[in-house]
Amino acid sequence: MHRLYETDEISVFWNSDKCRHAKMCVTGCPEAFEFGRRPWIDLSRDEPSRIWQAISRCPSGALGITYNHSVQVKLDETGSRSVAILDGKEIGECDYEDEGDRCVIYHTHVLPEYGGKGIAKRLVYKVIEAAERRKKTLAPTCSYAIKVLEE
Ligand code: SF4
Repeated sequence: MHRLYETDEISVFWNSDKCRHAKMCVTGCPEAFEFGRRPWIDLSRDEPSRIWQAISRCPSGALGITYNHSVQVKLDETGSRSVAILDGKEIGECDYEDEGDRCVIYHTHVLPEYGGKGIAKRLVYKVIEAAERRKKTLAPTCSYAIKVLEE
């Protein structure tokens, strides 16, 4: 299961399949991470820098974090995509198509000048999380989405 947790400032990625429950996140930042609470990650409860530190100690790679750089990432279900927006301008998208019980992610793109800011991963996670909530099997053909799912 993949989940994306967001504030205005940061985005946190969580892949439950990789989590070894070593609890470094919980001990490092107990306000933001608490097993049994729903949601178990609440980014509003601590400073981004402390959350970043706790995530950097995750031994499994189940958690990831990026700063948002003022870029919003939204799901556009009507358009079968997620979209990245900065100052009202679209700077990236991730496209998918539902085929029966499968969700085919076939294209991810971020304008080159905005590369290296974690935007593509946020776009893909947004689509993956929504597909999992719709109980779809993920069937990416986009090489970047495949990489995100494998990492
Ligand atoms: S530190 Fe990583 S592996 Fe450990 S409980 Fe937290 S998410 Fe899971």
